[in-house]
Amino acid sequence: MSLKGKVALVTGSTSGIGLGIAKGFAAEGADLILNGFGDAAAIEALRAELAKEFGIRVGYSGADMSKPAEIAAMGAEAEKTMGGIDILVNNAGIQFVAPIEDFPEEKWHAIIAVNLSAVFFGMKAVIPGMKKKGWGRIINVASAHGLVASGQKAAYVAAKHGVLGLTKVAAIELANAGVTVNAICPGWVKTPLVEKQLEARAKQDGITVEAAAGEFLAEKQPMAQFSTPEAIGGLAVFLCSDAAKTITGAPVSIDGGWVAQ
Ligand code: NAD
Repeated sequence: MSLKGKVALVTGSTSGIGLGIAKGFAAEGADLILNGFGDAAAIEALRAELAKEFGIRVGYSGADMSKPAEIAAMGAEAEKTMGGIDILVNNAGIQFVAPIEDFPEEKWHAIIAVNLSAVFFGMKAVIPGMKKKGWGRIINVASAHGLVASGQKAAYVAAKHGVLGLTKVAAIELANAGVTVNAICPGWVKTPLVEKQLEARAKQDGITVEAAAGEFLAEKQPMAQFSTPEAIGGLAVFLCSDAAKTITGAPVSIDGGWVAQ
């Protein structure tokens, strides 16, 4: 129970990697603030289930990460109801795939807002509280696409490269404040975000979704397996541990060798 007494806010934790990270923190005794979209009854059931299973406090904010005012309000609310945020994971993210000349303007703005600007506004909301406590952990979920590019993903790749830059700036600013700031760079993780891309590939090539998954892995990763949300949760827990207290400003890859090539 290494995180007992800490409050962790994980954006986009109603699904996929965010949920894996939230469960990793819960297993270490941290209280949680969940965030993300989805069916209200299903989210409430998840909130109650996590609170019961791990014996922790679990709050939920429906803040839209594309709206800076809602991010600021979420931070202020957490201060009031949970006594502040000790661990922030900026994880919410969206994807859209098209060549630059066909990339719709509104998709560009939406991806930059959720995948990049929300990371800035999230950090802005929690940094004063972390500095006051003299302890904090900020983890930004970037991607292998924060380090290398793929075609058709202009906004996503630009946003994720930006997240790594922001991570480094915050790490420098907070280096002696007891607050570390790092980025996790996953390769392929089978979540709804990737399942949509697998289905599109299967349809386009007239193959099964399983065959499309094999193609995705073979194209990008030397290791022919997906990383899991649970493993990303384990890495996030490590980054919050005492052993990781001098790791800051780092992009930490968990990608089956994607960027080793
Ligand atoms: P997902 O679609 O399963 O989950 C995304 C989460 O973000 C959901 O909870 C959703 O409700 C939330 N969300 C989306 N827009 C939001 C908004 N405007 N406001 C609040 N919440 C919002 O996706 P995932 O694969 O778990 O992705 C999580 C993060 O991991 C993203 O930043 C993504 O870029 C990154 N990532 C994913 C992979 C992968 O292979 N799945 C690889 C590298 C990086």
